[in-house]
Amino acid sequence: MAIRNIVKKGDEILTKRSKEVKEINSKILDLLDDMRDTLYSSGNGVGLAAPQVGILKRIVVIDVGDGLIELINPVIVEQEGEQDHVEGCLSIPGVYGKVKRPARVVVEYLDRNGKKRKVEGTDLLAVCLCHEIDHLDGILFDQKVYEFVDVENE
Ligand code: ZN
Repeated sequence: MAIRNIVKKGDEILTKRSKEVKEINSKILDLLDDMRDTLYSSGNGVGLAAPQVGILKRIVVIDVGDGLIELINPVIVEQEGEQDHVEGCLSIPGVYGKVKRPARVVVEYLDRNGKKRKVEGTDLLAVCLCHEIDHLDGILFDQKVYEFVDVENE
């Protein structure tokens, strides 16, 4: 297990655009493993993007409760509808707010074996895919919040 430090808002790396992964080598596979461990050790996170661990590469890990999805070079290829969801972010602790996102998205990506795959997301998975892909473009969710909310911490 290797848990990496999660970069917090204020660090300029979170505002930069991440680069495409050209070759899935052992460094990329180690990064995927570490991102998984870091996500699961966070307690309440459902997704993590590589810039959040200080690496400007287009890599995302997500688990909304249906198992881990590892996405390399993810691209939204279809989106429709609209939903409102309260979002939070491991890089902006304690801040929650409502964001409008598509109700359904389809994302193309490479898996860790370099195989081209597609995932369709609705509800929380659609939100999470959009939120994490925004991180790869240097966009934080609080820029998109239309209403901040108080959420009780356990
Ligand atoms: Zn986030």
